[in-house]
Amino acid sequence: MSSVYRVAFASLVCSFALSSSGCKKDGHAAAPSAAPAAEGAHAPAGVKPGSHEDWCVEHDVPESQCTRCNKELVAAFKATGDWCSSHEVPESHCVACDPSRKKVRPPKVAAP
Ligand SMILES: [Zn+2]
Ligand SMILES: [Zn+2]
Repeated sequence: MSSVYRVAFASLVCSFALSSSGCKKDGHAAAPSAAPAAEGAHAPAGVKPGSHEDWCVEHDVPESQCTRCNKELVAAFKATGDWCSSHEVPESHCVACDPSRKKVRPPKVAAP
């Protein structure tokens, strides 16, 4: 009956791992709440626009639309008339003018 012993040992190891670093496949995404950490505050290059990963935590807008991180986007917003000159952000992003414009980060899509 060595297999029974092995299962018991494995679960013991797992519970020990849970208490220390977490018994998860993806330990990197262990924290569900957005912490104002330097790492992960800005989206890496090449993320899908509109996805959970496409998010500027610092400015609370999609990274692909963040004019404060990417000044090259400013002209495009100004060209469409979507610009708040008093706050230097797109009018559609300007929570200083209208708090209801606050963007909501898209939910994370679980990888298969
Ligand atoms: Zn930003
Ligand atoms: Zn404004």
